[in-house]
Amino acid sequence: MKRTLMFLSVIILTFNHISLQAQKSGIEPLKYNINIELNDSTLWVNISIKAIKAETGQKDFLLFNRYIQIKEADLNDAPLKYSRSNDTLYFESSQKGEMTLLMQYEIPCSTMEYSNIVASYSDSTFTYPVLFDTSQIFCERFNKWYPVLYDNFSDYQVTITVPKTHSVFAYYPEIGCKDIAGKYVYSFNCFDEDFPFFITQANIFQPKKVIQYNTTNYEFCFLPRNRRLLAIVDNKPVFTSDSKQIDSLLDVSINRSMAAIEWYNANLWQKEFKTLCFVETGILGLGACLGSFILMDRILMNMEAIENYALSHEISHIWLGIHTEYLAKGKFFMGESIPEYVNLLFYESWAGTDAFEKAIQDKINLKLFDVPFYTVTFEQVLNQKKGDPQADEIIYNKGVAFVHEFRKQIGKEKLLKIIRETYSVPNHFVTLNDFENNIKANDCWNEYLKLFEIEL
Ligand SMILES: [Zn+2]
Repeated sequence: MKRTLMFLSVIILTFNHISLQAQKSGIEPLKYNINIELNDSTLWVNISIKAIKAETGQKDFLLFNRYIQIKEADLNDAPLKYSRSNDTLYFESSQKGEMTLLMQYEIPCSTMEYSNIVASYSDSTFTYPVLFDTSQIFCERFNKWYPVLYDNFSDYQVTITVPKTHSVFAYYPEIGCKDIAGKYVYSFNCFDEDFPFFITQANIFQPKKVIQYNTTNYEFCFLPRNRRLLAIVDNKPVFTSDSKQIDSLLDVSINRSMAAIEWYNANLWQKEFKTLCFVETGILGLGACLGSFILMDRILMNMEAIENYALSHEISHIWLGIHTEYLAKGKFFMGESIPEYVNLLFYESWAGTDAFEKAIQDKINLKLFDVPFYTVTFEQVLNQKKGDPQADEIIYNKGVAFVHEFRKQIGKEKLLKIIRETYSVPNHFVTLNDFENNIKANDCWNEYLKLFEIEL
């Protein structure tokens, strides 16, 4: 069971939501105009980025995937002079207050097979290869497929043109989809710091299951799989080809997701969205919440992962943990440990107190290789960065255990109140400071300080 949990913690909980540093001062949003077109063997990208240089704080670099070749680039109508190192694009400082960067590049891919183009996943310190596969292309900021600053909300105007055989899912709901010259042209406006999207062949999914609930349309796009991973028993995968079992597995995933949404709405705050798509994929090995769609790798579509709160973890990110300060102390505690604890509170609501207590105990009693169990301090959790399975254990398990310790002292309602007050500020990068300030405002500071005195 514990090794299973480790298995899950690696697969399910590797999705990090790299977000941006809080804007303290002076950096105006970058304005993006992006036109993307998928042709037979290429994803063409045309970008115009406008930025107002602030008096302080504007840096002359952008983060940009090292594997993407730039075809053409102009800065303020002159060829861009730049150097690249790792995933950073350095360019010559412009004296002008306004900067317009025009870029053109193409990402080779094949509509028939996996291409060898590799994108860097996560930040540049820890790189995981992700294959671009034209039947399913996933672009998001931590692939840095467009040049970004880490600490800036932005303003995206995007069109994505695809053959009629393909569909596009994006962070923000589409504002239009036109049929132009035999292709679909999707358009989007996004006022976030990130514009992730997913292009996929449309005909690979089963007929969509659409559920209308309150004012939201929930669409479930499952891959048609005659054989599915049902569970993991004694560390061995158990597959099923029984269509009834497969149907009931999908039903459980739908019902559990809907229940999670209802619980978060009731216990965090009411979130309005028009559509939420759950899209199954076979290319990532993880789940990710991306605003108006949730990407689930098929490996997550099994009872083990569903019971162990994988889907509801992703759903929790609609509320918590997407905008947490980049590179800051406590980033992953704020971005992953707290959302995962809230997800466990949802688990408690349907699985009961005993199951919940057991889940917490499993998180505390983690095994580290041959060591029976190990303990860490709260300070270690706060300083933990992503990068290896042990980092994930500390963030998704030990970090969660510390939140539980805090709850034991102040009570569930007070904890949820502090979480609501910390995370519900719009257009703000949440920091550990915000959390601590709200703890003080709720007279729980002494209880919080006690966390630093224990090891879990
Ligand atoms: Zn997460």
